[in-house]
Amino acid sequence: MIQIFIRLFIFCFILATLSYSQPTDYNYNQFIKYKQKYFTAILQGNKADEKTNLKKLIIFGDKANVPTKKYKKEMVKFDKSSQNIKKYNIIDQIQDIKVYSNNISINYKNTIIDTTIKKTNSKKGLYKIENYSIKGNLKDINNLFLKMDKKILDKIVVYGLNKNTIRISLRDKKAVNTTYKIKNKQIIITVQTRNKKQPILKKTKTIMLDAGHGGYDSGAVGYGGIREKDIVLSVTKKATKILRNRGYKVFNTRATDIFRQLKYRTKLANKMRADIFISIHANSIERGNEHVSGIETYYLSPARSERAKAVAATENRADIRAMDKSSIDIFLMARNRAKINESNKLALDVQNNMLFNLKKQYNNIKDHGVRKGPFWILVGAQMPAILVELGFVSNPIESKRLINQAYQQRLAIGIANGIDAYFDKITKF
Ligand SMILES: [Zn+2]
Repeated sequence: MIQIFIRLFIFCFILATLSYSQPTDYNYNQFIKYKQKYFTAILQGNKADEKTNLKKLIIFGDKANVPTKKYKKEMVKFDKSSQNIKKYNIIDQIQDIKVYSNNISINYKNTIIDTTIKKTNSKKGLYKIENYSIKGNLKDINNLFLKMDKKILDKIVVYGLNKNTIRISLRDKKAVNTTYKIKNKQIIITVQTRNKKQPILKKTKTIMLDAGHGGYDSGAVGYGGIREKDIVLSVTKKATKILRNRGYKVFNTRATDIFRQLKYRTKLANKMRADIFISIHANSIERGNEHVSGIETYYLSPARSERAKAVAATENRADIRAMDKSSIDIFLMARNRAKINESNKLALDVQNNMLFNLKKQYNNIKDHGVRKGPFWILVGAQMPAILVELGFVSNPIESKRLINQAYQQRLAIGIANGIDAYFDKITKF
């Protein structure tokens, strides 16, 4: 009896498969394949892949008799822009640098092209120092003297590091904590003021804290067998407690060691109408690189350049249909500039406050900064969303710190302070 059923089942299956298979056209399918790869490369800001796949989609598009004129135009632009940047070796010209209250404003003559900013920390005598290396050129920079209210910062030193890089060095006897913003023609560095009063928070803000992994998914397994899922759950619980004490409404995607699907996590955040979504993780790196340590925070931002965004935005809807579900989500996200900006701000506040709080007590805390990344977990969230990497479980020193309760508490306070700083700015403006 069962055998007959099985045979019937197999028969139905074959029938279904046959009726669904359609005539295929190799060249057209290749064209679609490379078009998807091309879009993915644009959205991920991968220039090399973008060019390679653009070339291939044109070749197969021509073979399949698909109009490829617009792609050929893109190819021409592509060649021109890469030549021009090389040929002219563009250096952004700075108009002036000014200080107002606790901000330093670096004003450029034109829209900034190279927005590479390096931020490092050091010590010199009594001073704790935060150094900014910023791309740009300013005449007479070595004769420039900047001053800030001593209650905020002891000293600012500015000089030309080389022909196309300036260095702004912020020095204070207490730890210096700054954030920065890049605008069209302006970079603004803001020094966090000391002894600032804890703002009275609106108790209406809702936060979704997402402890990564769980259950059979251990996440990264590191030095001495420590598991990412345990560390991130512990830090999430601590941060939840701190934030609730400060008056926030806080939800968790998991409060115990259970597995949750990625989709469930953001869906829950959307359902609870969370104002922000923070996914908490720990890093690891392959054998041979155990020395790597440090903290980084990601936000989802598919398009890296204005050109990439323009290309994505001007494409027609048929291209969206040709993409798979994940690419569609990313593609749509690319249009939601406001949410990306908010996520970027939140990431900066959380990253800076984690570092600031850890450095008070611990040495050699590495800052890997705020980064853009195509994380699927962040795609579905309808609110500003970031992913925090607390440290490397693969590093012998950092892994010991990560399982230490006091260290976890400092991380949790850092995250909470970052959230405070973020909402503080929003409610002000
Ligand atoms: Zn993880």
